Amino acid sequence: MCIFCKIVNGEIPSNKILEDEHFMAFHDINPIAPVHILIIPKVHVECFQDVNGEMMAAITPFIQDVATKMGLDRSGYRLVTNNGADGGQEVPHLHFHLLGGGRLKWTHLHHDNPKESM
Ligand code: 5GP
Ligand code: ZN
Repeated sequence: MCIFCKIVNGEIPSNKILEDEHFMAFHDINPIAPVHILIIPKVHVECFQDVNGEMMAAITPFIQDVATKMGLDRSGYRLVTNNGADGGQEVPHLHFHLLGGGRLKWTHLHHDNPKESM
């Protein structure tokens, strides 16, 4: 079972923000912004490439509710999903990073040395 499935079933503790029947939002253990939240479906979907439109439609208002709850709806935020190896995905359970709480830089677009990443 993957680590996020273990968070869903309570085997691994998490700092939860919001939960409903289908989705869960909790603080990232290693934040890279003043607010860094992970939003996941409770069922195991490996990555964005595997998710269907129905789930994406359902998770959208959930993500918006999390942003509102954290006060980011007016100040702004960034929503990111890393897909697969080149995308830098480390946990193979679909998750969206909700980042905010300060003016964000636009980095991580490419490896520092383009030649090394090819
Ligand atoms: P990825 O690189 O797959 O897009 O992001 C995985 C994220 O999960 C990372 O930001 C990492 O800090 C976070 N993470 C990994 N393990 C745990 C954990 O056990 N608990 C929480 N809350 N976050 C985790
Ligand atoms: Zn999982």
